[in-house]
Amino acid sequence: MNLDRILNTRREHAAEGIAKVAAIADALETSATAEAFHAQALEWSVVEPEGFAAALDCDVLFSCVDRPWPRYALNVAGYSHLIPVIDGGIVVSQTRKGKMRGADWRAHIVAPGRRCLECLGQYDPGAVQLEREGRLDDPSYIRQLNDDHFVKRNENVFAFSLGCASLELSQFISMVIAPGGITDVGAQLYHLSTGTLDRETDGCKAQCFFAGPLLAKGDASVDPTAPHEVAENARAKRAAASPPTAPDLESLSEAALRSPGRRRGLRSSLARRLGAGKSPGV
Ligand SMILES: [Zn+2]
Repeated sequence: MNLDRILNTRREHAAEGIAKVAAIADALETSATAEAFHAQALEWSVVEPEGFAAALDCDVLFSCVDRPWPRYALNVAGYSHLIPVIDGGIVVSQTRKGKMRGADWRAHIVAPGRRCLECLGQYDPGAVQLEREGRLDDPSYIRQLNDDHFVKRNENVFAFSLGCASLELSQFISMVIAPGGITDVGAQLYHLSTGTLDRETDGCKAQCFFAGPLLAKGDASVDPTAPHEVAENARAKRAAASPPTAPDLESLSEAALRSPGRRRGLRSSLARRLGAGKSPGV
């Protein structure tokens, strides 16, 4: 449930086997000020076929994943399917003596013309296959990794999550509202220790597979999905703790897969929108 980093989740949600997405959807509907607001909670991972199909039915995707496989899948969504992905992350570092060295959080939008998650260094392509094979969830494999390996790093401070979430939403507002006519402020990296904000406005590297051969390939691109045992086990565990919610999963996934025509229309309108506006670096 990640009680240390997610607003509106409580101990009783975890005790009752309520999924994070269900708890958040409920909170969003309670707080929403827009009329006819509806949150649909889907318990799929974005690397599962049902989850990826549901993601492809969105206008924009927000990401707070930290594993390489879902970030790879989101990179495919961003470049092959032209769905902007607003991604972010937090890294907290310490000195050799165990004192806090710093905390850095970043937010960026991956979309054609902007630097992708792989070129930004947000995941190691070599680790994608390791995760697909289940090795990053295998205790015996994890035991042999260095203590500073990303799989072993699970640090968080709630205030840092708020900072990262704010930066992601600021990126979204820039892209959609274009204050001052600027839609692309570049990838942003905030350093808590110095209070400085770095910006990176370069596009993808010359040899990038996503900005090159896979660009706008749609369903002809690579398929980043596969059965995901960890997600399946997590759902089964929650269903065992809370049986009434389990039968809803199938109908929810069918609803998410229903509208391919709408998906195609949105892709072309987004492609047009992404070409509008100007970058401060141009
Ligand atoms: Zn790239």
